Amino acid sequence: ATTLLWLRNDLRLADNPALAAAIEEGNVLPVFVLDPAAETGGASRWWLHHSLAALEADFAARGGRLVLRRGDAAAIVPALAREIGAVAVHAGRAHEPWLREADRRVAAALQEAGIGFHRHRSALMFGPERITTRTGGVYGVYTPFSRACFDAFAPRPPIPAPARLAAAGDPGGDRLGDWGLLPVKPDWAGGLRASWTPGEAGARARLDAFLADGFGEYDRQRDLPGVAGTSGLSPHLHWGEIAIDAVWRAAVAAPGRDAARQTFLKELIWREFAAYLLWHTPDLATRPMKAQFAAMPWRESAADLAAWQHGRTGVPIVDAGMRQLWQTGWMHNRVRMIVASFLVKHLLLPWQAGERWFHDCLVDADAASNAASWQWVAGSGADAAPYFRIFNPVLQGRKFDPDGAYVRRFVPEIANLPDKYLHAPWEAPEIVLRGAGVRLGASYPRPIVDLAEGRERALAAFAAISGK
Ligand code: FAD
Repeated sequence: ATTLLWLRNDLRLADNPALAAAIEEGNVLPVFVLDPAAETGGASRWWLHHSLAALEADFAARGGRLVLRRGDAAAIVPALAREIGAVAVHAGRAHEPWLREADRRVAAALQEAGIGFHRHRSALMFGPERITTRTGGVYGVYTPFSRACFDAFAPRPPIPAPARLAAAGDPGGDRLGDWGLLPVKPDWAGGLRASWTPGEAGARARLDAFLADGFGEYDRQRDLPGVAGTSGLSPHLHWGEIAIDAVWRAAVAAPGRDAARQTFLKELIWREFAAYLLWHTPDLATRPMKAQFAAMPWRESAADLAAWQHGRTGVPIVDAGMRQLWQTGWMHNRVRMIVASFLVKHLLLPWQAGERWFHDCLVDADAASNAASWQWVAGSGADAAPYFRIFNPVLQGRKFDPDGAYVRRFVPEIANLPDKYLHAPWEAPEIVLRGAGVRLGASYPRPIVDLAEGRERALAAFAAISGK
């Protein structure tokens, strides 16, 4: 028998239950469909290209062939299944709204054709509908949700990558290079290439490196953007180049302090929580979960938005973060919170604009984690930070980048300022600025918003919607 393996966010051979089930049933034809409905952002397209190139090579090395098709996945998958005479289609379960919609249509078409459609738990620890409160409700708060996960999760035993794959015909398909996923003019991907190795082997190497020294000082250092103290697994997890089960198993078995291990496992559950929220709130990326925030008197300012996007706000920790994003396709979590808070509060610009920019620029852009995190920072989300708690970016910078290593790396034009003024150059006496070669308003911008005034404006806006 022949089976079709529809790969989506599970671009790997090991620990892939859909692949294992497909092999069990017969000769497997793997397919990936590039669907415009996915609205894949620029940095993610770069990642996807390289991840698929790695996957093609991994299949080819085992005698298999990855088929690439482009268009409406919900039409292509059933048509291909009929064309190759497949008895069944296997796929990993997905939680993105567009994939759920595609799944509904694929399921209907396959049922009509008498072809089985089997989805396997793959990207997440749980099917989001399986985790309920004791009374059968949906969790809105992280801590009890995470407890439920800790109590119930038993990762699968390892499923090794298949050694050989029997050929399952060759229906033909696109060439990856013809998809135009890579930037050409200009080629902005140099910083991405220098930072990442997309694909299953790259994912495994990241995990091994992170766990080699027993999480390092993860619990103490994960908030310090100047230190490489986190795993860097997020884009690999997003594309399913490594299974959440494999990461969990390895983290539980690794040597190291238990405080660091527990902190890391809790972060994996934040990812799970975000996917759970998206499952239960499919318009998470656009509509505030707390309805009163729909009335927020957001500003409109193309100039302020552009300054934020390009790291030209005049607030060093914010600019460093936005430039790290632009250059490497990734930003440290602490700094994501700082730049998001600055946009939504000090600039009073809508969080949806930030969400969209992140979606386009992040290699780990994830419909669930991105939207849930933006709503969390904006105060409109589940279990969110209260809106009136406003990060002071100067104090955040001094606390989490005390030696200025992070700001100096990404904002080199102020690198010669002494630590004391690095996070607030406008406080430096003229003679200090001159000594450091900084001309405010010329070589580096003055802040585009007065931090105290921005804070008051945000509080007033929030007061206007409170009680609504
Ligand atoms: P580690 O600290 O090593 O954590 C391990 C894994 O846990 C991560 O790979 C990730 O899968 C998960 N994780 C960690 N923190 C979070 C979190 N707060 N929420 C959800 N999952 C988490 N993460 C994304 O994967 N995609 C996004 O699009 C995304 N957008 C974000 C937007 C904002 C405004 C904020 C504040 C956070 C966002 N995050 C997003 C969460 C977090 O910043 C990243 O997951 C983390 O920085 C990835 O780096 P790491 O792999 O080294 O993390």
